[in-house]
Amino acid sequence: MNLYFAGVLGGASRRWSLWALLVALLVGLLGLLVWLAGRYEASLVQDRLEHTAAEAVTDIRSGLTRNIQTFQALQSSERMPESWHLSAARLLRERREVLRLEWRDVAMETRGFVETPYHSAVFERLGRSSLQADVGLTCTTAARLSGAAYSRSYFMPQFDGMGMEVLDMCLPIMAAGRLSGYTVVTYALQDILGELVGKQVARGIGLSFTEADGTRLALYGAPLRGRQVYVAQQLLDLPGNTLVLRAENRLGTPALFPNVLTALVTAMALALLAVLFLLARDMRRRLKVEDDLGEALAFRKAMEDSLLTGLRARDLQGRITYVNPAFCNMLGLDAQQLLNQSMPSPYWPPELADDYQQRQEVRLAGNTLPREGHESVFMRQDGSRFPVLIMEAPLINAVGKHTGWMSTILDVSEQRRVEEVSRASQDRLQATARLAMVGEMASLLSHELNQPLAAISSYATGSLNLLQDALDSGAATSSDPHLSEDLQQAMRRIAEQAERAGKVIKSVHDFVRRRDKVRETVAPRVLLDAVMPLVSLQARKLGVRLVIEVDPACAPVLCDTIMVEQVLLNLSRNGMQAMQGADETPGAERAPRRGAKVLTLRIRPAASNARSQWVEFAVIDCGEGISEQVARQLFTPFFTTKAEGMGLGLSLCRTVIEQHGGFLGYEAVQPRGTIFTFTLPVAPRPDDLQEPSHGTD
Ligand code: ADP
Repeated sequence: MNLYFAGVLGGASRRWSLWALLVALLVGLLGLLVWLAGRYEASLVQDRLEHTAAEAVTDIRSGLTRNIQTFQALQSSERMPESWHLSAARLLRERREVLRLEWRDVAMETRGFVETPYHSAVFERLGRSSLQADVGLTCTTAARLSGAAYSRSYFMPQFDGMGMEVLDMCLPIMAAGRLSGYTVVTYALQDILGELVGKQVARGIGLSFTEADGTRLALYGAPLRGRQVYVAQQLLDLPGNTLVLRAENRLGTPALFPNVLTALVTAMALALLAVLFLLARDMRRRLKVEDDLGEALAFRKAMEDSLLTGLRARDLQGRITYVNPAFCNMLGLDAQQLLNQSMPSPYWPPELADDYQQRQEVRLAGNTLPREGHESVFMRQDGSRFPVLIMEAPLINAVGKHTGWMSTILDVSEQRRVEEVSRASQDRLQATARLAMVGEMASLLSHELNQPLAAISSYATGSLNLLQDALDSGAATSSDPHLSEDLQQAMRRIAEQAERAGKVIKSVHDFVRRRDKVRETVAPRVLLDAVMPLVSLQARKLGVRLVIEVDPACAPVLCDTIMVEQVLLNLSRNGMQAMQGADETPGAERAPRRGAKVLTLRIRPAASNARSQWVEFAVIDCGEGISEQVARQLFTPFFTTKAEGMGLGLSLCRTVIEQHGGFLGYEAVQPRGTIFTFTLPVAPRPDDLQEPSHGTD
């Protein structure tokens, strides 16, 4: 689980870092785009400004050239100062940038001058003469160049407290190839900018003349402030002077969104960011739903896996579409071996497959399966069969369509086993109840029979006495003396057997009451001798020959003599009856000859060595043997195959022997017959009873 969570956390952090990287890249890209758009815009403005500045310089240069031509024309047409004056005044009205026009002779003396009508006289405050040297220098240059030459610009203070930057231009006047004088023109720098530069160029742009070091000489348009003003500079190269024309964009610092393009790009970037945000939110929701779904699936799977009930889904054609692990475990098959299997299913017992197939077809055709469940038998992979309880219900999908059948399968073999056990214990209970009843009856009988037995015994003793008296008195001598002896013998036997019957009844009574038994030490042969008269009687009746084999090494045993005698009697009787049964059974193998009906009673130490702690008693017959069916219930109380049998003999015998700590069992004897054996414990102190050597009876 820890690994799982580490994996999930690792995945989540990787996903988040990817998202962060994507956002960072996008923000960077968009920032770059906006910056580039701004840069592009700025370069456009700068280009336009450069172009404007270059145009302005061209305008100024062509304006000055035009003026030179005009002045040359004036000088060549007007030779007389008066007419020159008129023409010059007219000219100055047209050329507002010219402040003063002078006609000087070769010696630099002023022959005439005209002032612009638009300003107060420019040299009025300081006087023209102070600048004579400068003008002379300029004109010398002009004479040398044989063309117009310009002076350095200089500042002329005015009466109004202001002043202006002015510039002189000297133009030599040639007459018939000779220098005849000079035309000196004084320009106002500010008016040059105002008049010579095209109005459309100047609009929105501040123009100024500066010196090389940036000192502003004249300005046209509002002065500009702010950082990063767009500036373009162009040199105005005039003969004798070089001025710097500086153009400044009135728009000033480029705004954050200098134009629509940038604004558009920015808006798109913002939209993109918004989409990204929405996408991230959607993704987050999806992830959550995915997590929830995964959790629900895991829960469902855990539930299905831990179910003990088998689940099976089939489509409408009877093909298996789903099985859970419990069902697979039940059958010992893999899910792969079951899925998509059609009829006959791999878990149908082959002998029942036809029935199941028919039943299934009927059910599927009718589209009605019993909901209450039906029992069936399935087969495991190892071929073993087991009973199951199946409950089926229609499988309805999400849109309410009937797509197949869902079955719940319960393995009921354990249930059946418990039922079987309970039935057996019920039977045992009944048998016990009957046993208890038999016990009660035995007690009652023993009680009731004691009296008549005592009476028989005393009558027999009485009869014996009477007979003895008669013999003694000679009353019976007339009759056969042997008869009297026989009678006496018979009477003694009657008395003995009556006494014995009394003992048996008492023993049974004690046994039933489970009183502590009186155990005595007795030689095994004595036990045999005690039952011999009754066994011989029955053997004679049934034509059975008895064989007695007693090992002289047998030690005396400790037992309840009467009960053990009953066991011997019972086993001998069963053996003789079995030989009798074999005789009568129709279809049995050829009946043994009369002489072949032999019942052997054998007593020997349980182990081969003489010092064994157990003595083994065996009753061997050559009867019909015990079939497997009889063997299963041999010791069950009330089980008998005989019409007059009680079915209690063997069960009682085993109980008696087991109460002595011994063991009672049986085996088949070849070629036919059965040997029943039981063991009894050897008495702790060996008695010096005489053991008769083995013999036959
Ligand atoms: P019962 O003698 O009253 O039938 P038992 O408990 O002594 O009751 O015997 C139960 C059954 O066991 C008999 O009915 C008989 O079928 C079978 N049986 C007992 N002893 C032998 C034997 N020696 N040979 C064959 N079958 C025997």
